[in-house]
Amino acid sequence: MANQKGGVAKTTSVASLGAAFAEQGKRVLLVDLDPQACLTFSLGVDPDEVQSSINEVLLGQATIAEVRVSCEDGVDLVPSVIDLAGAESMLMPRPGREHVLKGVLDEVADDYDVVLLDCSPSLGVLTLNALTAARGLVIPMPCEMLSHRGVGQLLDTVADVQRILNKDLQVLGILPTLFDGRSNHAREVLADVGERYDLPVLEPPIPKTIRFAEAPAVGRSILATSRTSKGATAYREVAQALAKRL
Ligand code: ADP
Ligand code: MG
Repeated sequence: MANQKGGVAKTTSVASLGAAFAEQGKRVLLVDLDPQACLTFSLGVDPDEVQSSINEVLLGQATIAEVRVSCEDGVDLVPSVIDLAGAESMLMPRPGREHVLKGVLDEVADDYDVVLLDCSPSLGVLTLNALTAARGLVIPMPCEMLSHRGVGQLLDTVADVQRILNKDLQVLGILPTLFDGRSNHAREVLADVGERYDLPVLEPPIPKTIRFAEAPAVGRSILATSRTSKGATAYREVAQALAKRL
């Protein structure tokens, strides 16, 4: 899940789709690659209490098997901590720096059916690691005009990654988020977006609802806090569509 813009629902989508895949009986691993540790926090893990994180894993000081934690949503999480920003700069001078995450994920590949990577709002070395490790990219995008900005740049980066680092990377599609069905503007943006970038648009769009703001506070995804809400249902349907594609 990547988009270098913040606030487009990357973290919310990773948490919700992770819970939806777990409901389907899949073994799910979520990886928090954002130094702000929002995914870690929203799954009920206090980043300040985390002993070892993705940070140590990327620096070769711990394995994923050692740092992963089981969350109530039925998923495993590789937590982040604030000094992951430090990992980014320590990776920079290392040879093969874009391949580190792929290497460590390969070690636990047999333990999981689905691995979801929550990227930070940047196109730095951590996001390049994610794009190098991934088979598929989902680009969450709010249904507002200005939210297009930056997608062209992201797709240029993806083309470079496909050429140089990971030829198996496939763009699975744009995931329309924060969708207000009552707004003509939002409906127009939704209708336009797939054609504009010549990409599949995942369905259904994720409706904008206040329920999403409430879930992280109790450390669960919306699938648990608001089981039958429109938002939870939409993420279950997207997870089903993705499971078929994968
Ligand atoms: P990102 O990881 O891309 O920065 P987040 O997932 O953290 O984005 O979401 C940004 C904010 O938007 C959060 O406060 C989140 O609760 C809220 N949010 C996400 N999805 C929805 C939605 N469908 N409806 C309403 N609020 C949402
Ligand atoms: Mg985030």
